[in-house]
Amino acid sequence: MMEVNKLGKALIIGAGGVASVVVHKCCQNPDVFEEICIASRTKSKCDALKDKLDGGQTKISTAQVDADNTEELIELINSFKPEIVINVALPYQDLTIMDACLATGVHYLDTANYEPVDTAKFEYKWQWAYKERFEKAGLTAILGCGFDPGVTGIFSAYAQKHYFDEINTMYIVDANAGDHGYPCATNFNPEINMREITANGRYWEKGEWIETPPLSVKQSYELPQIGAKNIYLLYHEELESLAKNIKGIEKIRFWMTFSDSYLTHLKVLENIGMTSIEPIMFEGKEVVPLHFLKAILPDPASLGPRTKGKTNIGCIYQGKKDGKDKTYYVYNVCDHEACYAEVGSQAISYTTGVPAMIGAMLLLKGEWKKPGVYNVEEFNPDPFMEALNKHGLPWVEDFNPTLLDV
Ligand code: NDP
Repeated sequence: MMEVNKLGKALIIGAGGVASVVVHKCCQNPDVFEEICIASRTKSKCDALKDKLDGGQTKISTAQVDADNTEELIELINSFKPEIVINVALPYQDLTIMDACLATGVHYLDTANYEPVDTAKFEYKWQWAYKERFEKAGLTAILGCGFDPGVTGIFSAYAQKHYFDEINTMYIVDANAGDHGYPCATNFNPEINMREITANGRYWEKGEWIETPPLSVKQSYELPQIGAKNIYLLYHEELESLAKNIKGIEKIRFWMTFSDSYLTHLKVLENIGMTSIEPIMFEGKEVVPLHFLKAILPDPASLGPRTKGKTNIGCIYQGKKDGKDKTYYVYNVCDHEACYAEVGSQAISYTTGVPAMIGAMLLLKGEWKKPGVYNVEEFNPDPFMEALNKHGLPWVEDFNPTLLDV
């Protein structure tokens, strides 16, 4: 049996929708997470989480930190002395937090890759450039350990390990059939969400990236437990690492559902310039339209009690085993109301926060300790798959799924 580290101390940075789930899930596993510190820009949000969960076996403290400031982070890490930092703030903070981990000798995990604030372009190159420094320091950095990226990579490693000699085609299908009753709201940070979907679509085919105009490729797909949905081709960050790490891969595409109402609002907002990240002067003040839009849209954390329905996120693979064609679909269905009943958050935060906790747990237990900077598909998927079933994200396998049109 793997040895459980009895002194697991985790510093959780961020106190938003995803952080709240991570905190709840760490507290459900006090044998691994003996002590946590929740640190974010707005300390009152950390305190509110602590108040909700105090009294259990996991000891909780809180702190204020500006995670854009490496020196502040170093000071906080040196005073709390965690073994791991779980970064569930925003992608803009990834590099400052990785710098602080290197300076203090602490392991690192995040759920989204670095993106500069002033350019809507996420890529792994900035974080992969830390590989040698983490290796030399004997520290592990686990990148993209949410659902997508995250579980989609674990599913891929599992498919590769157990079912295929080579995977040639892979489709990720991320469907949210939840209804929060608002005509326009995003399920996670609106700024990050809108930057992602207003960008060009992009997929990998035969060694090159092919771009498509934003949301211009769509089809209908019948999803288990959810029904037929319109799915749209998007670029998503795990495509970059999977194209590199999955043996024999020739084509990877990422598909996501959006409601017609949300897309109509988004089109209007885009046409009038509200999704722009270029600052404008307004009444003598510099304002970024997308930041202003974020301020007036519903807070994703407030959607929990209103959201009904399910998500279905999974991967469909086609490839070869023992010289024969093989197809495999693995997915998780998550119910918004059940998530809310358990941890007070909707399924989008839940499906991200649970894998982040599991990744940190496997690292603390020593099962995923590997000095360097790695994407999740580079670790052994088996203990993670087992943990998904145990900690709230059970998965279903289908060896004869309906295939996508393209
Ligand atoms: P939220 O906006 O709800 O929360 C972000 C938190 O980070 C807030 O508490 C915010 O503080 C804090 N924060 C922002 N900037 C700083 C800073 N400079 N210093 C300290 N704290 C800061 O976002 P979510 O919880 O929805 O998302 C968290 C992360 O999860 C994002 O990186 C997102 O991209 C990722 N994600 C990943 C998914 C996956 O499947 N892999 C899916 C969904 C999200 P304040 O409260 O003051 O604003």
